[in-house]
Amino acid sequence: MPKSNSINSEPASDFIRNIIAEDIKANKNDGKVVTRFPPEPNGYLHIGHAKSICLNSGIAAENNGICNLRFDDTNPSKEDTEYVESIKSDVRWLGFDWGNRLFYTSDYFEQLYQYAVQLIKKGKAYVCDLSAEEIRKYRGTLTEPGKESPYRNRSVEENLDLFERMRAGKFEDGSCVLRAKIDMSSPNLNMRDPALYRIRRVSHHRTGDKWCIYPMYDFSHCLSDSIEGITHSICTLEFENNRPLYDWILDELEVECHPQQIEFARLNLSYTVLSKRKLVELVEKGHVNGWDDPRMPTLSGIRRRGYTPESMRNFCDRIGVAKRDSMVDIALLEYNIREDLNKRAPRVMAVLRPLKVIIDNYPEDIVEELDALNNPEDPGMGIRKVPFSRVLYIEQEDFREDPPKKFFRLAPGREVRLRYAYFITCVGVVKDEQTGEVIELHCTYDPKTKGGDSPDGRKVKATLHWVSAAHSIEAEVRLYDHLFNVANPSDKKEAEDFKDCLNPNSLETLSSCRAEPSLAGASPGSRYQFERLGYFCVDSVDSSESKLVFNRTVTLRDTWAKIQKAQKKG
Ligand code: ATP
Ligand code: MG
Repeated sequence: MPKSNSINSEPASDFIRNIIAEDIKANKNDGKVVTRFPPEPNGYLHIGHAKSICLNSGIAAENNGICNLRFDDTNPSKEDTEYVESIKSDVRWLGFDWGNRLFYTSDYFEQLYQYAVQLIKKGKAYVCDLSAEEIRKYRGTLTEPGKESPYRNRSVEENLDLFERMRAGKFEDGSCVLRAKIDMSSPNLNMRDPALYRIRRVSHHRTGDKWCIYPMYDFSHCLSDSIEGITHSICTLEFENNRPLYDWILDELEVECHPQQIEFARLNLSYTVLSKRKLVELVEKGHVNGWDDPRMPTLSGIRRRGYTPESMRNFCDRIGVAKRDSMVDIALLEYNIREDLNKRAPRVMAVLRPLKVIIDNYPEDIVEELDALNNPEDPGMGIRKVPFSRVLYIEQEDFREDPPKKFFRLAPGREVRLRYAYFITCVGVVKDEQTGEVIELHCTYDPKTKGGDSPDGRKVKATLHWVSAAHSIEAEVRLYDHLFNVANPSDKKEAEDFKDCLNPNSLETLSSCRAEPSLAGASPGSRYQFERLGYFCVDSVDSSESKLVFNRTVTLRDTWAKIQKAQKKG
């Protein structure tokens, strides 16, 4: 699959918007634009759906049009109100407002039934008693024409009677279907007398047991679009071959509104999967902790991870809309959240893997409140006080007893800066007698370097973050990595089963981190930059007053810039 890597910050322009602009110019549909986002409530929304939402509602908004939210709820065995509710809250979170235009295909069941009756009356649909297996056999292949069903030439009266009895529950599930009568030798398999209705005795989450026949997607979708007066029905490429059927049904029924179906390439994102079927599997088999697991590419997952709706919308604008399938690098998604949080997330200090530091020459009974900037990008965010005392914690990895060549952080005899505080020099190392592990450092500080400024032009090569041991608060921090360890887990060349590509190290939990005291009581969902470590978000599920839990949204390393640089060079 080709990669699509351009950052495009021009006002949106793409082949769909061009088509619509032409339509408006020609006063097609009286110059109106009506779009819809039509999720099936059989799972949670993912980042691919965000692309579709941004596209449909964006196009409507740009053209003074409207965008409906429609639940495409025609397959009750897989659908549920839990999904309806989650989808509504995810769409709202993204920032789109459907006003009073919330619809359900199930609201049209009676109308759709009447449309089917109309087709039968025209001699364009028939009840077929072939089994599913037989229908498949009769359909033929891409190189062979299909065979007509022996039931194809039933009379209109017989079909009307049979269809009515299908609805009345007189037949077993699967014993017959209503089919369109089109062309069994069409080169397009979708046109070889496709099924329009099937019998399914399954309770529907909205219509209960009122119906035992349910319309197929191809039949209900075009008609729901038409009923709602949709002008442009935008869907993903896999429906390209369904378009002739979409048009056939609307033409045969002579409806007032005949929307134009336009297909675009679905979003594929590296190191993850964007398919509800696969995501359901991950949830149900326990590979992740639910739909909102912060590693999931669901909107509820990335929201819990700390992504903002603004960053998602920017991402969708930047990837644009194309007609050919491509794979977007997940680094671009990360770039967008970093860019957004850089502007608005307050900086704080937290230590993930604490190493105790004792400042030997600092008085035991003194606590200084030092000034720290909340966001160097935005002076308006002000300053806060950070307590400094004799016993501190720094990051274990910021000290090396035997530093390699390019390691400029703390080492025996070496001086470094503590952010907003003082220069310190390491004068002693305490180790665990049994394991040899470094458990404590002794340092001295230079009182003339208060605030981290050098008094005499003396240079240090590293600035470390730190917290005061006695004042810091405990926190749990969850570090995430890609959910899969290959770029395209759906590629059969990688593995027969996409689950074999799951990254076993996608979650690392650190339970004894120390955060500066200003974080006490941080509210769920609030976002911070931990200096030098990345952006973190208070977990909205597991964090509490007594135990702070943070999710790492993203590191500070801009892998996207690196990719771009490499591309420019190459
Ligand atoms: P999945 O393939 O994940 O099961 P779906 O297409 O079955 O998704 P729907 O609920 O039918 O899910 O999708 C609602 C809308 O979102 C449709 O218009 C669909 O085309 C669009 N959509 C789904 N996945 C993507 C994607 N990866 N990129 C862009 N649009 C998508
Ligand atoms: Mg679908």
